[in-house]
Amino acid sequence: MNNLPASTQIVIIGGGVMGASTAYHLALRGCTDVVLLEREQFFGLGATGRCAGGIRYQFSTDINIRLSQLSLPMLERFEDETGQAIDLQWPGYLFLLTNEYDVAKFQRNVTLQHSLGILTAWFTGDEIRRRIPQLAADDVIAGTYHKGDGLADPNGVVNGYINAARRLGVITLTETAVTGIETKNDVITAVRTNQGTIQCDIVVNAAGPWAGVVSEMVDVPLPITPVKRQMLTTTPMPNIPEDFPFIIDFAQSLYFHREGNGLLTGMSNPYEKPGFDQNVDEDWEFTHMEAAIKRLPMLEKAGRQAGWAGLYEITPDAHPIFGEVEQVDGYFLVAGFSGHGFMHGPIAGLLMSEFVLDGAATTLDVSMLDYQRFAEGRLIQEYNVV
Ligand SMILES: Cc1cc2nc3c(=O)[nH]c(=O)nc-3n(C[C@H](O)[C@H](O)[C@H](O)COP(=O)(O)OP(=O)(O)OC[C@H]3O[C@@H](n4cnc5c(N)ncnc54)[C@H](O)[C@@H]3O)c2cc1C
Repeated sequence: MNNLPASTQIVIIGGGVMGASTAYHLALRGCTDVVLLEREQFFGLGATGRCAGGIRYQFSTDINIRLSQLSLPMLERFEDETGQAIDLQWPGYLFLLTNEYDVAKFQRNVTLQHSLGILTAWFTGDEIRRRIPQLAADDVIAGTYHKGDGLADPNGVVNGYINAARRLGVITLTETAVTGIETKNDVITAVRTNQGTIQCDIVVNAAGPWAGVVSEMVDVPLPITPVKRQMLTTTPMPNIPEDFPFIIDFAQSLYFHREGNGLLTGMSNPYEKPGFDQNVDEDWEFTHMEAAIKRLPMLEKAGRQAGWAGLYEITPDAHPIFGEVEQVDGYFLVAGFSGHGFMHGPIAGLLMSEFVLDGAATTLDVSMLDYQRFAEGRLIQEYNVV
């Protein structure tokens, strides 16, 4: 039995990290006339629950680094604040660079990171080969390592925010699919669902890779492309050291990090066609594992424990879209995080509470990440996308 109320002030569409964090941060400000709608049976079954859990400062743009500088400390405070453990670990991220173009790009990135107080280390190829002897790294020219990058549990973060929001008075409903959004004279009036209609003044679209589909309901086209990404975990690998970093072979978009007693590894298929398919592509898994074993030969002896696929939500400049859309009064976006949104979920929810309650984000100026930037050609390209 679903308990969809007849009306509320704010409807949040989507129960991934963005929706959950937005609901919690609104409630923290005393705004509890909020209903969060998720169509799946549980929260966090979209991109958030399928993600690699990586959290990092190593980005190539000022705004992404600043988002991390606010968001990662929120994850450090998370358990104290919400009571939910999120298995934080700080193995650091190590980017491996195998061509001169990337070396030059990452040199610039590191300079920018240093200017913002993020003290990423620069390693030569020899240093990498000495530090991580498990890698077959003859072709690695250099690398960047930041020890303050790490991992957290995505499901813990979603459910921690959902439960804390509920305790503060927010209504959060699963198995409630939004099927339409009603407007009158370009002003939000209601949301239609498979459980009935709910009147409201404000809609926050936090539908992740499906944000474009939701946005069509108000005739606001979004440049957010869903693209499948997949990964797998291995059976225990006792020879992987405790301090093994989150390693990214940047040119191949191939990565590994410790997961339990084994490894999690993924590789992005540059030829993947956009779409909503979330089935594991076995041919690509084969290609991925060939490349993975070549880079980390000890993987050859490991078994496959589990594999799954999820969707990136890619914008043309690999940055998210924040704030109110001027075409429809009461319509807000927090979407398009382009494959690195889990780590920015905490700050994104806080900023959304400011957009909704104060008319602008004040903790951090993200006005350059508005919806209008696409029409006005104000794109800011992020290079460190995996
Ligand atoms: C394979 C993979 C690895 C990744 N690795 C990382 C990583 O290491 N670090 C990182 O920071 N990020 C990573 N990401 C990206 C990250 O997962 C996303 O950026 C982030 O989770 C987006 O959160 P969200 O809340 O916007 O979307 P989602 O978690 O997808 O939530 C959106 C929700 O909306 C619901 N929904 C959609 N349509 C409707 C509707 N009509 N009605 C009701 N509900 C609806 C969906 O069911 C879903 O639960 C990865 C992503 C993938 C796919």
